[in-house]
Amino acid sequence: MINVTKTFLPPIEDYNNQVQRAWDNQWLTNRGELVLELEEKLKKYLSVSNIIITTNGTIPLQIALKLLGNNGEIITTPFSYVATTAAIVWENCTPVFVDIHPDYLTIDETKIEAAITNKTTAILATHVFGNPCNVEAIEVIARKHNLKVIYDAAHCFGVVFNGKSIFDYGDVSTCSFHATKLFHTAEGGAMFTNDVDLQHKLFYSHNFGHNGPLDFHGMGINGKISELQAAMGLAVFPYMETILSDRKKIVDYYNQHLNFSKLQAIKIRNSTNWNYSYYPVIFESEEQLLLVEKELNDHQISPRRYFCPSLNTIDYVNGESMPISESIAKRVLCLPLYAGLPLVDLNRIVVLINKKLC
Ligand SMILES: *Cc1c(COP(=O)(O)O)cnc(C)c1O
Repeated sequence: MINVTKTFLPPIEDYNNQVQRAWDNQWLTNRGELVLELEEKLKKYLSVSNIIITTNGTIPLQIALKLLGNNGEIITTPFSYVATTAAIVWENCTPVFVDIHPDYLTIDETKIEAAITNKTTAILATHVFGNPCNVEAIEVIARKHNLKVIYDAAHCFGVVFNGKSIFDYGDVSTCSFHATKLFHTAEGGAMFTNDVDLQHKLFYSHNFGHNGPLDFHGMGINGKISELQAAMGLAVFPYMETILSDRKKIVDYYNQHLNFSKLQAIKIRNSTNWNYSYYPVIFESEEQLLLVEKELNDHQISPRRYFCPSLNTIDYVNGESMPISESIAKRVLCLPLYAGLPLVDLNRIVVLINKKLC
C-alpha cells in the first residue's frame, strides 16, 4: 500500500538514545532538557529569533486567537485544514471567508478589504502546502485597518520567503509537527512571534499562565510538549537534509513526467525556497479526479483529497459561497510524496495517472 505520505521514522536506536536521557534525568515534561535542546536546534536551523514548541499545531492557533482575536470577526481562507476554521469558532470568534487565488491557492489578498467590518479584529491565513500568502500585501492591509495577522504555517517547516523564515511574518505564525508533516515529533507544533511582549504572553498562555509556581500572568491552557515527543524530534532532526533532498527528487520527477496539458500544478510564489511538503494536482473536473483516484486505489495507491471540502461549506459556519475554493477543493488531489518513495512506484503512479488523462 502506498499512501499520500509515510511518517519518517529514524533508526529506533536514535530514538532510544534520546529517550534514555529522559530516564537518566527522571524528567518527562514541563520543558525539560530535551524540549529546550530541540527549541535551540530548531531556532538555529530555521533562523528565527524565538520559538515555543507546543503539544500540536492547533493549540497555538487557539492561543493566538485567544490573545489577538478579541471575539471578533476573523478574515480567513476557506482552503485549509479544518483546524484553521474550527480554532476560530472554538475561540468564540466568527470566521469571515475570503476566496482564494486560483493559482497560488492562498487567500486572495485583493478581496480582503471588501470583507473588513468594524468587528474585524484579525486575519488568519494559511500558507497552503508551504506556499506563502502574499505576506507583504496582507501586512499593508493589516496596518491600514489596525488588524492582527496570524499565519497558519502548519505546512511551512523550513520555508524561506524573501530571504527570511516564513515564520517571521505576521504577528504570530504557527507550525505543526504532526507525524504526517515534514518534520515531526509524533504530535507537536510551535508558535513564533517577533514581538517580545506578545512572546511572553504566548509563553505564559501555553503553561496555565504560570510565571513561577505562585504567580500567574493571565489565563492559560496546557499546550506543553513532553520529553518523549521532544526525543522523537531530536531523533528525526539530523535526517532533515536527507528528507528534503529525497522529496525534491520526487517533486522533480512528477514535474517532468505528469501530463500537464490536462492538469494544473500549484504555482509557488516568487522568492520562495519551498519545502516540497505536498504535491497537489488539480484536474479539469471532479469526474476526472474520481477516475484517476479509483485507478490508483485499484493499484493500492492512496492519494488524498486535500483540502476537501471547502471550509465555508462545513456545518458549523454560515459561510457565503466561495466559488474558486469550492471548485478547487472538488478537483485537487495530493499525490504520494515522502522520503524513501521508490522510483519504480513513482513511475507506476505517473503512468497510471497519465493513462487516465487521455
Ligand atoms: C496539520 C494542520 C493543522 C493542525 O496541526 P495539528 O498538529 O494536527 O494539530 C492546522 N492547519 C493545517 C493547515 C494543517 O495542515
